[in-house]
This record gives sequence, C-alpha cells and structure tokens, in this order.
Amino acid sequence: MDHGAPLGAWGEAPSGRVLDPRTEAFARARLGEPLGAPGPSETAGRGAGQTLHDNSALTPERMRALCPGVEWSLEASLRARFSRGMSYLNLMSWRAGEAARLPDAVVFPTSHDHVLEVLAACSAQGIAVVPVGGGTSVTGGVDTPDLDTVVVCSLDRMSDVQNLDTESGIVTVQAGATGPQLESYLNERGWTLGHFPQSFERATIGGYIATRSSGQSSSGYGRIEDLLVGAEVATPVGTLSVGGYPASATGPDLRHVVLGSEGALGIVTSADLRVRAFPTFREYSAAIVPGDFSAAANVVRALTRSPLRPTIVRASDEAETRALLTMSGPGGVLGGAFSMYVRMRRALPGSLIIVGWESESATTLAAMRAFARERLADAGAVSIGGRPGRSWVASRFLGPYQRDAMMDAGYLVETFETVVVWSAIDDTHHTLAEVVRAELGDDSYVMAHISHSYEVGASLYFTVLAGARSDPRASMDRWRSAKAAIMDALAECGAAVSHHHGVGRDHRDFLPAAIGPVGEDVLRAMKTTLDPGWIMNPGALVTRSDGQR
Ligand SMILES: Cc1cc2nc3c(=O)[nH]c(=O)nc-3n(C[C@H](O)[C@H](O)[C@H](O)COP(=O)(O)OP(=O)(O)OC[C@H]3O[C@@H](n4cnc5c(N)ncnc54)[C@H](O)[C@@H]3O)c2cc1C
Repeated sequence: MDHGAPLGAWGEAPSGRVLDPRTEAFARARLGEPLGAPGPSETAGRGAGQTLHDNSALTPERMRALCPGVEWSLEASLRARFSRGMSYLNLMSWRAGEAARLPDAVVFPTSHDHVLEVLAACSAQGIAVVPVGGGTSVTGGVDTPDLDTVVVCSLDRMSDVQNLDTESGIVTVQAGATGPQLESYLNERGWTLGHFPQSFERATIGGYIATRSSGQSSSGYGRIEDLLVGAEVATPVGTLSVGGYPASATGPDLRHVVLGSEGALGIVTSADLRVRAFPTFREYSAAIVPGDFSAAANVVRALTRSPLRPTIVRASDEAETRALLTMSGPGGVLGGAFSMYVRMRRALPGSLIIVGWESESATTLAAMRAFARERLADAGAVSIGGRPGRSWVASRFLGPYQRDAMMDAGYLVETFETVVVWSAIDDTHHTLAEVVRAELGDDSYVMAHISHSYEVGASLYFTVLAGARSDPRASMDRWRSAKAAIMDALAECGAAVSHHHGVGRDHRDFLPAAIGPVGEDVLRAMKTTLDPGWIMNPGALVTRSDGQR
C-alpha cells in the first residue's frame, strides 16, 4: 500500500491531477459543466480529523502482549489510511469529510509465523482482523467493520520473491508483493506473470487471490485461479497449505477455498504462481466492427473459442467507442492520422475492438494475427492499425488518475461488472444500460466493454458517468440508489454478482440469492472450521445464519 497517496484519490498522476482536455470537453458536452467540488487535499484532513482523536481500544502494553516481535502502529493517521478501500463511495467519503470507523491498530508481520501468532492471539481475545494488501478493494472488502476492536493485518512487509523454478515455470512470492514488484523481478529474468488488472500499480498477489482477480490479458494468460499453483494460508487454527501440483485427483481442490476467500477465512502469506517466458514478440491492433454491439461480441466469441485466441481482446460498445474516439479524436489515440480517422468513420456507428498478441515465437504470433484478421474481415471490420492498440496498452493504468480528476470536477464516475453466458450478453448489456440511464437521467453516460471472455460467455464491464454536484453527499446518494437498481437488474438477468471485483461488504446481501441457502451454509461451515471465533474480516463475504457478523 502506498502510504503517500492522498486520501480520497487513487494517487498523484505522473502528469499531475488534471483532467485531460479532450475528456473535459466530452464531459462538458455530455454531463454538463464541472463544479467546484471538494477534492481530497481539501477535505482529507478534515475527514480524517473527525476521527483522528485517539479512539483506539488498544494500548501499547496490550499490543506488546498481543503480538510480541511483530511491528505495529496505533498512530491515527496511519490507521485512517487502512480504514477503507477505493470504491467511488470510499473515495468520496474522504472528500465529504465523513468519519469512518478506524481500525484500532495496524500490524505489520514479516513472516507466515508472525501472521499465525497475530491470528491466534486475536482469536483468543475475540479481536477482529482485517487483512489488507493494496487496499484497492471496490466492494467494501477492507472497510474496517464497526466492531468493538479491530486490527488491520497489513501485508506491506511481506513482498519478497522467495524462489523462481525456471524448469517448472513457477514463482514463489510473499502475498504482499504488488504487481510491479513481482513483474519487475520476473521481467529482469526473462519471465512474466501476465496478470495486469487496471489496479496493477497498487494491488497485491494476496489481494488478487482473495478476490479472484482478472487481468486485462486474461485471454492469453488466464485469471488468477489459472495462475495459482499453490498457497500457504495462515488461519486462526493453524496453517492451511493448498495445491502444489500441476493437477491432482485428491478430492475437491482446496485452492478454490482460498480463491475468493476475501480475508474471511485466513490470510494468504505466500503463493506459487505459474509464470511464462516474457514474450519477445508483441503486437496490438484495433478495428471498428460496424453495427451494434452484438456484432462485436460475436467476433470476440469466435476469437476466444480458437486455440489461436489473442492474448488481449477487448470490445467496446457503441457508447464506449464514441467516448474513446471523441476523447482521443484525430489528434489523440489515433494521432495525426487523419486518413485513418476518415476510414474508421465509414464503420461508425460500431464497436472498437482492441486485439493484442504476445508470444515467444514470431510464427505463432503470425498465425494468431492471421486468424483474428480473418474473423474481423468476416464481420466487415475496418482496421485502424496498430497505433490505437499500442496507445491503449501504454495508457491502460492511467484510468484511475483520470477518475480522480473527474471527481475533482464534481462528476460522478464509477464502474460495475458482471459475467453471463453468451446467449445472455445482448439482453444483459441492453437492460443494464437502460437501468442506469433511467436511474441517473439525462446528464449521465453509460458505456460498456467485454474484456474477459470464455468459451461459454464473457464479462461485461460498465463505466457510469453523471453530472457534477458540488456536494459530495448528493453524488454519493445518487450512486447508492443507482447501484441498488443495478444489483436488482443483474439478478433479474441471471448475471453474476461479480466477475472479478468480489463480494466484500457491498455485495454480500446479494450473494445468498445467487448461491442459495445450502451454498451459504457451506461457506459458513468453512468459516467456522478455519475461523471458529469469526474474527476474520467480519461482515465480508459471509454472515452467520442470524445475519450477525
Ligand atoms: C481503479 C481500480 C481498478 C481495478 N481494476 C481491476 C481489474 O482490472 N481487475 C480486477 O480483478 N480487479 C480490479 N480492481 C479491484 C481490486 O484492485 C482487486 O480486487 C485486487 O485484487 C485487490 O487487491 P489488493 O491487494 O488491493 O487487495 P485489498 O483491497 O487489500 O483486499 C481485497 C480483499 O482481499 C482481502 N485480502 C487482501 N490481501 C489478502 C491476503 N493476503 N490474504 C487474504 N485476504 C486478503 C482483503 O481482506 C479484502 O477482503 C480495481 C480496483 C480499482 C480501485
């Protein structure tokens, strides 16, 4: 976790926190004028200040007795940093100056044994523990619950790469390593994990596993569950070791107890992850598929079902295509290539498809590219060349900084995501877009894309923008009410509660309908076995049958 980031924002953008002029023009045209809304720097101190009085239930003496040999802090400003995640509501709550329950202490173990000691001691004393990696949860997964005493277990000091088995292609890494920490270690040695969520700069290996994360290159490298070979988990009752084999027939696969466990069962301390040779050959391309979104979805489905599927495939609906092209325009993503712009206009309205191929072999890449070109040609797609694809790849981690700048201008900006089978894609896409428009009204804009696809279906990722309000609380209420309607609509469409953001506290009430009472009891039984005192991240993922945490 980056302790230097301003509270209420993703971080300080490399180019400063300013709204890109083209994005600003688009926002003015579609959402109305920006307003002087409180930014994080203006109110973060106030937000934290409301709670900075020393309200910890724990004293230094108690901490020393609780976890001897483990570093800890009772400092209020540090506890504030670990008190909530990075959803729109989380970030806005700082800007609104809203007080939040601070954890009573933050502990910084450096080893698996340290974590075991902390959990055993907290379990014995009935103290709740919230594991925090990068703190980028967008589902309330790290919002420290309103309980008597809560300790955050930070994985900040557990980021070492412990082994790289080049013969097997497996890296062993402590769970607190961030994407860039692991990726730079691997790249220096000619390897890659290939896991690139948009939160790559901050999120950690343990967080990926605990939330079932999916990266932007998931078509080529797979989701985190495809990469997880094995894991060590510290629980209040001891160590749980899962996996460790290429495949096995040793009963149910316990890796899947850990994947998506959201800190509610234990703390992942290290993981064995499949790695691949760093791709020598990389190529990215873009095209516009004319017609409605279903035409683009058909192309994605055909690409995904082939052994020659691309490493990255992302299809934007017409609204997102319009937004991306307007924001980029002939002078932006498309560069000065006016002829390309004119060519592309022939295919509009249509859907922008970004396709990327990465391989160790030029021959393999050529075969993948030829296959994709055929499928795109079948759909009448107009190629707009490599530049927009390369530009998208180069800027793919900058979105959260633009979100900060949009919020500074008072605009509402949030995302939500789901996954459905192919036969339900069109209906779900259409229904959700309509629900958002109906909820948020004329000064709103909703757009979507497919960026994770499977043989039987795909995820839909929606971005929602709405007009500026100078009072952050008004924007927050607006989003809360829209989100409630969205969750109802997802259930009606038979769409998943989440494809990769997880359940946390925000989606917990929607899980029972999805997994049924028996499914809930299975989750409860797992929790009771591994965490008999129910101290692990209370309120996230699962509650007791009486609804209590
Ligand atoms: C701007 C933005 C973009 C995002 N883009 C993506 C994306 O492209 N793909 C994607 O999958 N997600 C995305 N996310 C969501 C989030 O980044 C992921 O859920 C990520 O995996 C969380 O990792 P983290 O280390 O930040 O976990 P945290 O936020 O610290 O924790 C998330 C959950 O995991 C638990 N946890 C954390 N570490 C451990 C551990 N070691 N052991 C057990 N439990 C643990 C926590 O208790 C909590 O329940 C995005 C979020 C933001 C804010």
